Formats: sequence, C-alpha cells, structure tokens
Amino acid sequence: TPSDSDSPTIFDKIINKEIPSTVVYEDDKVLAFRDISPQAPVHILIIPKVRDGLTGISKAEERHFEILGRLLYTAKLVAKQEGLDDGYRVVINDGPKGCQSVYHIHVHLLGGRQMNWPPG
Ligand code: 5GP
Repeated sequence: TPSDSDSPTIFDKIINKEIPSTVVYEDDKVLAFRDISPQAPVHILIIPKVRDGLTGISKAEERHFEILGRLLYTAKLVAKQEGLDDGYRVVINDGPKGCQSVYHIHVHLLGGRQMNWPPG
C-alpha cells in the first residue's frame, strides 16, 4: 500500500526544485511551501528535507524526535511570518482514514479564516 512504500513522492521533486512551489521558509532540515490546493487563505505545508522512513506520523521512532520538534517549531515561525496573530491550525493527516494523500510526513498550517471544530 502507499503508506508502506519507500517510493519517492512529489515532495522530493519540490525539495529538489524539479517542480515549482512557493517556498515561504527553508533551512537545512525543513522546507515550507504553499499548498497547491489551499483549504484556507493561508495553507502551508512543512516537510523534512530527508524523509528517513517518516512516511507519516504513524511511522515515528525515537530517532525522529528532533525533526518532529523542528516541524512543529517551524509551523510557529511561519504562522508568525504570515501574520496569523489571532490563531491558526496545525494538522497532520495520517493514513487512509486520516485523509493522507502524500506519504512524506507533512504538517499543514492553516489560517486566515475562522476554523471549525470538530473538523469532520
Ligand atoms: P495530505 O492529504 O497528504 O495530508 O496533504 C497533501 C497535500 O499536498 C494536499 O493538501 C495537496 O493539496 C498538497 N499537494 C499535493 N501535490 C502538491 C504539489 O505538487 N504542490 C503543492 N504545493 N502541494 C501539493
């Protein structure tokens, strides 16, 4: 199944700049870029540049602790950069029932409108 695959994903091409994206933050470990199909006025994806088996959060191991923290911290940095001072949402979809579609872990940063709860 896709969730068990070690195949490259479209995000590798984004990391390697083989396909264009609108990058909003980049350092040696993570990349943040605008979602191609935004679900809010601000919709940014934050990904590790090296997947290291982390197809999704369900595959997390102790060796991933640093990158997992960095992904969340980057969400906070980018939210501030985007001026989301009244709040925002951070989401990780996992597996078929979590509506995951790309098996390279990514944090969604959503904002710029009122979010709803429960999300459905
Ligand atoms: P998931 O559904 O796996 O949590 O989220 C994957 C996200 O990647 C979706 O929101 C989708 O719109 C986004 N996405 C898929 N392909 C591309 C692409 O080529 N470029 C960008 N910028 N986003 C993409």
